[in-house]
Amino acid sequence: MPVGGCYGAPVSGSPVICVRDVEKSYGSGAARTQVLRKVSVEIQPGEMVALVGQSGSGKSTLLNIIGGLDQPDQGEVSVLGLNLQTASEPERARLRNESIGFVFQAFNLLDHLTCLGNVVLPAAFSQKDASHAQERGMESLRRVKMAELALRRPSELSGGQKQRVAIARALFASPSLLLCDEPTGNLDSQTGKEVIDFFRELNSKDNVTLLIVTHERRVSSIAQRVIAMRDGKIVETTDEALAEAGPS
Ligand code: ADP
Ligand code: MG
Repeated sequence: MPVGGCYGAPVSGSPVICVRDVEKSYGSGAARTQVLRKVSVEIQPGEMVALVGQSGSGKSTLLNIIGGLDQPDQGEVSVLGLNLQTASEPERARLRNESIGFVFQAFNLLDHLTCLGNVVLPAAFSQKDASHAQERGMESLRRVKMAELALRRPSELSGGQKQRVAIARALFASPSLLLCDEPTGNLDSQTGKEVIDFFRELNSKDNVTLLIVTHERRVSSIAQRVIAMRDGKIVETTDEALAEAGPS
């Protein structure tokens, strides 16, 4: 049964993410693959958590289920007080559009739109975001130092610049939770460092909760907690800050 403020109306101080006994498989019969096996995890407001593990261990699947992009077979997930199993599709869509920002390894920008067009795209799906979308889109681009290139197409940008635009898009609705799937996977190490420093600033200054799937030691070393997955299970969590020191 639900316990500890994970379900029902959001209570201040209750977990941002509550995953309980989640199971997920793909395919059927002999081709069936069990991808998540009774995964449970809680993430508190203001945490910055790294999710690590070998390729194929289920990290992206878990992240997508938390973001409401995929559904579990069993178990319960609540995000920002919304129980994703019992919520209606409009409620889930509102959560995705207004309260969660997504950043992916592959940037996922549309090349027939300008950078600004990509950033303000969420406004097309959300009443909250419809007003002053262009100005707010520019403000979002300014935050990631991409305002000058607002009218370029993504194909005219470097990888690091594309990821900045993707982050600006993720921040457009001022989400309180950012879900990132290998955000530095396609970036050189200096650009990756800049992106990570920016995440860290978002976490410490704006109190955004971050869950970051990563292979990079640099990310896991600045996270307050590291969760490791193997074969669809959580095998290890480190509660204490791994490296409070380190460059800021
Ligand atoms: P990770 O992100 O840790 O690399 P994933 O969550 O992407 O792992 O994938 C875990 C396993 O689930 C892999 O074996 C992958 O092939 C399988 N898988 C993921 N998504 C699908 C899908 N849509 N259909 C079938 N199998 C999938
Ligand atoms: Mg993955």
